[in-house]
Amino acid sequence: NLNYTLETAIDKAEKSSQAKSEFLSTMSHEIRTPLNAVIGMTNLLIMSNPRPDQTENLEILKFSASNLLAIVNDVLDFNKIESGKIVFENIRFNLVELMNSICGGQSIKAHEKGLDFKLLVDDVLQNKVIIGDPTRITQVIFNLVSNAIKFTKQGCITVRVALFEDRHDRVTIHFSVKDTGIGIEPDSLDAIFEPFTQESVTTTRQYGGTGLGLAIVKRLLELKGVKMQVNSQPGQGSEFSFNMEFLVSTEVPVESS
Ligand code: ADP
Repeated sequence: NLNYTLETAIDKAEKSSQAKSEFLSTMSHEIRTPLNAVIGMTNLLIMSNPRPDQTENLEILKFSASNLLAIVNDVLDFNKIESGKIVFENIRFNLVELMNSICGGQSIKAHEKGLDFKLLVDDVLQNKVIIGDPTRITQVIFNLVSNAIKFTKQGCITVRVALFEDRHDRVTIHFSVKDTGIGIEPDSLDAIFEPFTQESVTTTRQYGGTGLGLAIVKRLLELKGVKMQVNSQPGQGSEFSFNMEFLVSTEVPVESS
């Protein structure tokens, strides 16, 4: 019976996909715990006043372990999204404060590379408290800004957050991350959002990375019904932008004394 065979095949495929996703999730968790211990212990050693040459080696150890942790976290997140296990939170937060905290560390990184860094936020957003998932917003912006810095040799990174539409109880915010970097070939514009895909083998060799960042960003935005726009000119730079709607909190903010 053809129907029966098809159903058995689908059932088997679903079970195997579930097993794969559970395996990935368990493995990633198991790797994360010891890695966090390695990073924690390395930090303690760095603070214990070692010799300068030891400090240098410890910084390399910390950098490599942190990179590995970022990769494991990406795999874990991608797996969570693919298996439909991601849950968005609805928390009150101030977008300006969030953007400042995301971009603080990133602007230091850009300056270390000799790049200018601008965070331009609409004044009207200063006192607005919106409702959404700050962790996921951070993940999206952090990925875009990290890429912008990574793929730019000179010039400027500009992060813009603007009020696109205000309907009192909800707002639409325009987010944009622009760089003056290597740009992306028109043929590759779709492929870069696919998991484990980088523009070319040369990219992997020169810049590292797993090719999971944009796949995660795209899927997170899609789950919120948001589409990412990319404008890019090879050799000139790229701009990643999107509009997202948020509920505005009507609760009066608690005055700090
Ligand atoms: P990763 O950064 O780990 O390679 P991503 O999914 O974040 O993975 O990006 C996929 C690919 O898209 C990158 O390898 C690069 O080829 C291209 N890319 C992403 N952002 C930029 C950018 N701002 N400028 C140029 N190329 C980019």
